[in-house]
Amino acid sequence: MAEAAPLPPEIVAAEHARGRILARPVVSGRTLPPADVSAMDGYALRAEDLASAAAEPVSLPVVYEVAAGGAGTRPLEAGEAARIFTGAPVPPGADTVVPQENTERRGDQVALGVSPPRGDHVRPAGEDVQAGDPVLAAGASLGPAEIGLLASLGRTLVHVHRQPRVAVLSGGDELVEPDRDPSGGRIVSSNAYSLGAQCREAGALPNNLGIARDTPEDLEALFRAGLGADVIVSSAGVSVGDHDHVRDVLARIGCRMRFWGVKMKPGYPLAFGRVGEDGPIVFGLPGNPVSAMVTFEQFVRPLLLRMGGHEACFRPVVRAVLGERLTKKPGRLHFVRVHLKRDGHAWVASSTGNQSSGVLRSMSLAHGLLVFPADDTAIEAGAEVAVQVLDDLVFRETEPLG
Ligand code: AMP
Ligand code: MG
Repeated sequence: MAEAAPLPPEIVAAEHARGRILARPVVSGRTLPPADVSAMDGYALRAEDLASAAAEPVSLPVVYEVAAGGAGTRPLEAGEAARIFTGAPVPPGADTVVPQENTERRGDQVALGVSPPRGDHVRPAGEDVQAGDPVLAAGASLGPAEIGLLASLGRTLVHVHRQPRVAVLSGGDELVEPDRDPSGGRIVSSNAYSLGAQCREAGALPNNLGIARDTPEDLEALFRAGLGADVIVSSAGVSVGDHDHVRDVLARIGCRMRFWGVKMKPGYPLAFGRVGEDGPIVFGLPGNPVSAMVTFEQFVRPLLLRMGGHEACFRPVVRAVLGERLTKKPGRLHFVRVHLKRDGHAWVASSTGNQSSGVLRSMSLAHGLLVFPADDTAIEAGAEVAVQVLDDLVFRETEPLG
């Protein structure tokens, strides 16, 4: 994460900035609402004129009408009422609105049998925002409410952190694009698709640069094509086989390796470095589809979120009850693909089945990754486990509440 500074700001239309992070604070130049406005359709008047109305109804002359968005009229005098509509400015002299359902209109008079407190049903000027208020801090995440707030302040353009651009590379003589015939032992290059989608989910902009053959020259050419990006994510060829050229090629393009190999499963062979001082950050992910996705989750996603300006970059974690006993060898931290099911107030985590790193369906069935610590060899059924939640669909309800 130390390599990942938030990217510089760019100016975008607030309307299209959902999910982006503010790079500069927003201070209001406006007071909202700009004037005392009516919260109801009814009558504006002075509360003191109705002090005795609860005991004995009072009748007031309706001297004029203020429509929503209506301009100022003459000040209301003592003993007068004005017809008013929701959102309309309360006329000077009036301090209270009585909703029309609590009144009875008789010609140009209105009869009122209530004694409301002063200020009733009036939204005072500045109730929402005062001019000069710091409304949104730098680092704020822009959701629908923030975008509405920006609009009400007249801010149609905002400064947000730029989205990281990610070059996605694949490598392998066996690989073909998904629309080609994979017969004869060829394998569809699905990683560019899953990793590209993971980039988008992390607020980044992927660019699929295609497949390099298993030669250092071809691979180097593809890496060089990605040098203009903020981040390069390659998959495969990062192990120690005769056809694994990624690490040599990274050295050739001036990539300083920060680490290679992580004691985790899936995903041991993982290369991480940076080209020069401020060139792209490079991830050489393992080629197996699940290993590529899981290492992306653990290493690439948090970094992309941080570059996009996010403060909270890690997946939510739920505590769950383990549905069945799990075992493994000591030495590597395992990320076990699990299904989550609610049982009363508890979550129950169960393996999605075959945990081979080539079985992409197990990833598709998984709601989360159970963290099985490196040195542990067994977790008993019923034990409490920590699960990184990958998919907020698990929190959705099929029925509405209430
Ligand atoms: P490698 O790291 O090159 O040894 O690849 C490990 C495994 O991942 C091999 O079975 C590859 O066929 C597979 N693989 C590599 N790249 C991709 C890709 N882009 N899409 C799907 N599978 C891949
Ligand atoms: Mg390969």
